[in-house]
Amino acid sequence: MTGERQAGEHRAGETPVRPARAPWRASVLTLYPEMFPGPMGASLAGDALSRGLWSLEARNIRDHGLGRHKAVDDTPFGGGPGMVLRADVLAAAIDAAAPADDPRPRLLMSPRGRPLTQKRVHALVEGPGVIMVCGRFEGVDERVIAGRGLEEVSIGDYILSGGEMAALTILDACVRLIPGVMGAFTSAGEESFENGLLEYPHYTRPRIWEEHEVPEVLMSGDHGRIERWRRQQALAITRARRPDLLPQDD
Ligand code: SAH
Repeated sequence: MTGERQAGEHRAGETPVRPARAPWRASVLTLYPEMFPGPMGASLAGDALSRGLWSLEARNIRDHGLGRHKAVDDTPFGGGPGMVLRADVLAAAIDAAAPADDPRPRLLMSPRGRPLTQKRVHALVEGPGVIMVCGRFEGVDERVIAGRGLEEVSIGDYILSGGEMAALTILDACVRLIPGVMGAFTSAGEESFENGLLEYPHYTRPRIWEEHEVPEVLMSGDHGRIERWRRQQALAITRARRPDLLPQDD
């Protein structure tokens, strides 16, 4: 860290430098708050966290558990394996984290949810932040979903053991888009999904590696040609790997 003052950072008794916009606020409800910030405390996201460009609070659902054992789950009505997070416990945790008029979307990590897209990530970043609920066990009591206006979000068609890694994934995708986080590193707009295509291939030094040369066009200095080549490559890769991303021509 240099001596330079960053937005959001201040010492006791000093007037804080006000960030250009209110920090993007994430609240995570989890049975494992020690998993946060985890990887989001490192690298550019971690720097941005200490600079106050975004904030993160991890709240333990178990603080709202019942009885001596702070129970948070119970067996499913109707039978079947596993345990289910109780609606009353989860609702109490949500109410403590977010008053009814909190404008932030409430996301429930769930393999049944709508799969996360880059478009949705942009929309989330444009808002004030997120409240994320991490399921565990078999999931959560269905009634709390509508009862507390939770939107189910999936990070892909596979089953995790809990919502924490999904929440970290969503945070990572969002935080890198907060203005000022990526700084000069950003190439948003060019990246996969940003223009509806997978990205073109990259090359750097050495120019010849294990007898493989960098494509000649990239050494040509002809920016128009380079741009056309990259666009062709992006199209070919998308057609081969993810034809579902291309407009249907039927
Ligand atoms: N029985 C559930 C899976 C529970 S997995 C089912 O078949 O649908 C336990 C928790 O992990 C879930 O409540 C959810 O919070 C999280 N989780 C698992 N897979 C996920 C995914 N693909 N995306 C987002 N969250 C997921």
